[in-house]
Amino acid sequence: MELHVVKLHLQPLIDIQQNRVLGAEALIRWQHPQRGLLLPAQFIPIAEQSGLIIELGEWVLRTACFQARQWLDNGLTQLVVSVNVSAVQFRQPNLAELVAQTLRDSGLPGDRLELELTEGMLMEQPEAASATMAALKQMGVRLSLDDFGTGYSSLSYLKRFPIDKLKIDQSFVREIPADDDSSAITGAIVSLAHSLQLKVIAEGVETKEQLDFLIQKGCDEVQGYYFSKPLAANDFQLKLSNP
Ligand code: C2E
Ligand code: CA
Ligand code: CA
Repeated sequence: MELHVVKLHLQPLIDIQQNRVLGAEALIRWQHPQRGLLLPAQFIPIAEQSGLIIELGEWVLRTACFQARQWLDNGLTQLVVSVNVSAVQFRQPNLAELVAQTLRDSGLPGDRLELELTEGMLMEQPEAASATMAALKQMGVRLSLDDFGTGYSSLSYLKRFPIDKLKIDQSFVREIPADDDSSAITGAIVSLAHSLQLKVIAEGVETKEQLDFLIQKGCDEVQGYYFSKPLAANDFQLKLSNP
């Protein structure tokens, strides 16, 4: 896999309280010469096994930070870029240094970057995770907990780690409002987040019914096909000017 064939797509994150785009999640794509555009599920596992995920993760972080710096330069001062961190990358002892260096190189203020972590990553080596997260918070970087509700870890880490946002997993969002259990879980995650002074975002929002349910529950942010699919950088900028 050559790095020049990978690219980032951007999916808008919508603030439903203020009705505005607050940023984008960076989602990696591989433009394969024969097989066309490949999704992460088709190559991330291979990259993880081969160790290439480290290099790939660095590239994603760098590209996302330079992209967000460009938004700033274009006067889009409110936007945040959200980057997925793999477990392998999070385990690297120099992750915080890498982020600091990338922020310096790109000139992006730390509070314009959000990193998406998962519950499993935090529980694997809680002490090391804690130190990495503290260093990231020092730089102003925001931390979001991806796929929330699907892990098996205890909730006590929500107290211990400096998390800013919970991201309700698509598997729950898909079933609201028809399924009572998923609706109850979604509502409970919104309440849990707010009682811990955290923001909460729902991903995989595809319908008006899902959106209405989330608004009614007081969810802060949404992301999903209802608003937009992940877009190439140019299309994302166009979408911002013609929503
Ligand atoms: P994720 O972090 O949970 O990302 C959300 C996935 O849901 C994305 O799939 C996105 O395209 C998709 N999605 C967004 N809105 C909707 C919707 O309304 N309906 C449905 N059905 N799906 C929606 P994608 O891009 O295929 O990415 C899959 C996973 O690959 C991501 O899940 C993430 O875990 C991983 N990934 C993506 N980019 C990166 C990256 O740069 N680095 C790392 N380490 N992992 C990445
Ligand atoms: Ca994510
Ligand atoms: Ca997710």
